[in-house]
Amino acid sequence: MRVLRLPEELASVLPSKGVGFVPTMGYLHEGHLALVRRARKENPFVAVSIFVNPLQFGPSEDYERYPRDEARDLGMLEAEGVDLVFLPSPKDFYPEGYATYVEVTGPLTERFEGAHRPGHFRGVTTVVAKLFHLLRPERAYFGEKDYQQLVVIRRMVKDLHFPLSVVGVPTVREPDGLALSSRNVYLTPEHRKEAAKLYQALLAAREAARAGHSVDEAEAAARAILDTIPDFALDYFAIVHPGTFAPLEDWVPGARALVAGRFPEVRLIDNLEVYP
Ligand code: AMP
Repeated sequence: MRVLRLPEELASVLPSKGVGFVPTMGYLHEGHLALVRRARKENPFVAVSIFVNPLQFGPSEDYERYPRDEARDLGMLEAEGVDLVFLPSPKDFYPEGYATYVEVTGPLTERFEGAHRPGHFRGVTTVVAKLFHLLRPERAYFGEKDYQQLVVIRRMVKDLHFPLSVVGVPTVREPDGLALSSRNVYLTPEHRKEAAKLYQALLAAREAARAGHSVDEAEAAARAILDTIPDFALDYFAIVHPGTFAPLEDWVPGARALVAGRFPEVRLIDNLEVYP
């Protein structure tokens, strides 16, 4: 496994085709490893990036305290048979004078995460576009955990004619349903228990849909659970069209329930397809 830190070193070690790429911010868990394993299965060469991208954090967010453990991450990736890890420093990735940004505009980035984290998606699309240019993958792997991000990346890839396919990978969960996230380590033991209710709320919406209830009824069923979580400030719960993020009045195939909110120590997001 090669570990490279400088953007200009990449060209000499990358094969001209067959690269599967998994971008991450590190502090890896089984969710990241699901992406890596899928990439390992589908590509002769697997590259993973670890970069806590300052551009996608707002000024009041957790960039400085975002968990990091490079040695542990590298051990995990080595064990998965990864070929290349790219670990740039912020100042090599965005050198002084850096001034170029990639932005998906409109409803895909204005709602939900876009509304609650101004500038977040611009940071994500900028870093991912740069990484695509540097790693030149044939396939790139993203988690459904960050569903809006996945849709925004697909839009960018299509709009900018990146010659690659975007592969979405299902969310990996704890036994009680909490979606794995590097940020879960911040949760107090009490809030860690309560956090499983986000998934229970998503499941309640899906159950309501399956039982033939309306979108409004499914939403009410989910909110009834979210309302019982102590110390939890809901940012949004919505049932939306899976491609446009337009809120729904009637069911459409693939309808997605989205949830996000904050305990004092950490912000959590999750989502689930609630209508087949
Ligand atoms: P992050 O390191 O949080 O930026 O995540 C890197 C990639 O892993 C993104 O494509 C995430 O959507 C994905 N990911 C994070 N958590 C999970 C999870 N629990 N299940 C599946 N994919 C995930």
